[in-house]
Amino acid sequence: MDATMASYDYDLFVIGGGSGGVRGARMAAAAGARVAVAEEYRYGGTCVIRGCVPKKLLVYASHFHEDFADAAGFGWSVGAAGFDWAALIAAKDREIGRLEGIYERLLADAGVTALRGHARLLDDHTVEVGDRKVSAETILIATGGHPVFPPGHGWEHAISSNEAFHLARLPERVLVYGGGYIAVEFAGIFNGLGARVTQVYRGPQILRGFDDDVRDTLAGELVKKGIALQVETTIDRIEKTAQGVAVHLSDGETVETDLLLAATGRRPNTGNLGLDAAGVELDAVGAVKVDAFSRSSRPNIYAVGDVTDRIALTPVAIQEAMAFVDTVYRGRPRPMDHENVPSAVFSQPPVATVGLTEAAARARHGALDVYRSSFRPMKHTLSGRDEKTMIKLIVERAGQKVVGAHMVGLDAPEIIQGVAIAIKAGATKADFDATVGIHPTAAEEFVTLREPVPPPEAAAAE
Ligand code: NDP
Repeated sequence: MDATMASYDYDLFVIGGGSGGVRGARMAAAAGARVAVAEEYRYGGTCVIRGCVPKKLLVYASHFHEDFADAAGFGWSVGAAGFDWAALIAAKDREIGRLEGIYERLLADAGVTALRGHARLLDDHTVEVGDRKVSAETILIATGGHPVFPPGHGWEHAISSNEAFHLARLPERVLVYGGGYIAVEFAGIFNGLGARVTQVYRGPQILRGFDDDVRDTLAGELVKKGIALQVETTIDRIEKTAQGVAVHLSDGETVETDLLLAATGRRPNTGNLGLDAAGVELDAVGAVKVDAFSRSSRPNIYAVGDVTDRIALTPVAIQEAMAFVDTVYRGRPRPMDHENVPSAVFSQPPVATVGLTEAAARARHGALDVYRSSFRPMKHTLSGRDEKTMIKLIVERAGQKVVGAHMVGLDAPEIIQGVAIAIKAGATKADFDATVGIHPTAAEEFVTLREPVPPPEAAAAE
């Protein structure tokens, strides 16, 4: 066995230098493995290069618009404010370049061989990168995903989120197509920066899969901020015009816009990787099929992150990679736990959530106690801004365990991260009640909820 192991160039070859791949490579090397990683674009992956990190920087940038207006209520007079898109993009690019360098240094410091180029499997132990061929005992696929456009013509006149980070100038009019995370976040960014934004979504309400109160609250806030939200509408036809793009909608309307951004989902990067040659099975959407240990249909090939189409979030990919390293290199096999993964949408105001929606909790647990509070955040008592915060706690009635927490409003992501610990630990409503609040905060609302909303059973009985 040892003789076979020694005959490979590396113990582990990682394809993809994003969040999951880099973490897997570093931690495996720290556990004593000889590791190489290949990345064809930039180390850091989607999250660092054209996802979470630059997105959040743009969200910060776009929020100043409101901050200047809100300051007046606190006695400040702010002169005419100007905004320079090119300066923002340059600053963002410098920061992304810095982070990319950190990723590369972390790999080097861990003793990982970092290669540049497209990697392809020739068989289940051999990888080709450019004109190099290397062999490895174990392979970790962490190639992420890419944005997809809807079927049909005219989408060459649209951009995806990839290009949104590098626009030469800020468009005056933007049409965002989609109702998911990326659509909602970019609608807010462009709106905050001063563009006139139309958001078009095919379903009855944005953020499908989120709690209905979250969806309705956020949609109401987006409209108040001036985003023209059109639901149950699709794009029929796209035409290039002298000024921009004419987008013909299913309701008969035509919207002229300078920028059409399609935020219509992402697909796993499994093309041209030689996965068939290696005998790795894919599912119907082209994701690598894996078990709870992230092991593919080939016993020595694993996959983590977006390429597996489980939960497409950076911290999930990182934890999947950690579980992989524990399983393969630390003699502590453990499956990844995908229960109660918190997440946030950096919309304006932001959304954050952990656990079950009310509908999912009802389906799983039956009777529930649902607590909900909607209030004006303290900051806006003086700013005068008409913006609400909504928080919601879902408790399964029989065991009184808190099974879901949802929030729309200022600081929601920062608040829900802490609440997620309590839910992960199995806290009951009594534990929440026994916790002393921090005053004055919005977060304290989570520990001062006393009266459940009347359950649907009670309403039906009336
Ligand atoms: P989502 O799957 O969240 O949203 C895709 C949206 O596009 C949905 O509203 C969907 O509608 C719509 N859509 C899909 N196909 C079509 C079509 N053919 N025609 C019209 N509309 C269509 O994907 P995103 O691209 O927004 O993001 C991908 C993933 O990346 C997210 O699910 C999330 O896991 C992750 N992400 C996380 C972020 C965060 O943590 N803050 C930020 C950004 C991304 P419908 O709902 O009807 O299917």
